[in-house]
Amino acid sequence: MYEEIRARVALVRSGLSGVDYALNPYVGCEHDCVYCYGPYVTKRDRKNWGRIVRVKRNLPYILSKEIKRVRGIITIGTVTDAYQPAERKYEITRMCLRVLHRANVGIRILTKSSLISRDIDMLEKFQDIHIGVTITTLNPEVSKVIEPNSSLPAERLKALIDMPKNIVRYLFVGPIIPEVFSVDDVIEAVQRLGGSGLDYIIFDKLRVRGDIYERLSLILRDVGLSLPDISGLNRYYRNIKANILKALSDYNIPIFFEF
Ligand code: SF4
Repeated sequence: MYEEIRARVALVRSGLSGVDYALNPYVGCEHDCVYCYGPYVTKRDRKNWGRIVRVKRNLPYILSKEIKRVRGIITIGTVTDAYQPAERKYEITRMCLRVLHRANVGIRILTKSSLISRDIDMLEKFQDIHIGVTITTLNPEVSKVIEPNSSLPAERLKALIDMPKNIVRYLFVGPIIPEVFSVDDVIEAVQRLGGSGLDYIIFDKLRVRGDIYERLSLILRDVGLSLPDISGLNRYYRNIKANILKALSDYNIPIFFEF
């Protein structure tokens, strides 16, 4: 269900490294990933997070006013996906891109949607732009249960491959979920992207908030996977870093860990 709202502010200061401001065209996210901690960050009702999406109809207008006194890097979609299905109808992200391009700022976008390909004509005009797609698994069956309304992993990779060469491209592998994560999937993704240029990879762990771990455990049982006891998570993440570094040592790609 979509609810149109009037935003009072467009840009908020971001605490993310290398980013100055965050711009979120929507409140809530139809992708409805089971592991999403967006509702906890934004203090929204978890039940409605993927069911009710609030559309900031006036965002491009407010942004056009605020951008006059702003310089730096802007990330579009920090607690929502800027290319979730609502964007197909409302085009808020696309209208914001137009404003941001006129202001000559740098932008960063991370998405789980191939809809981003629609805006290549706008994205290729930016001088300073990084586009990333998220991969948690390359298994479409598993992806369908944990991130039900996003594009399939192969479609996301294809969207990244199709990005023009002047765009910095990255892979965001996360959250790394025990039993779901496979370093072979990462290698396969790197090989698929290799020819088109992959500039860096970011890895992130699962952010356990509220009942995320319990819900993930339940839903993964549907595809025959069983999560280990939560008490072993820290050790798992310590070991996985070494495995990732070893597996990717033959590829000359910068790697960053957010944990
Ligand atoms: S795409 Fe991102 S914001 Fe949307 S539900 Fe998934 S994790 Fe949350």
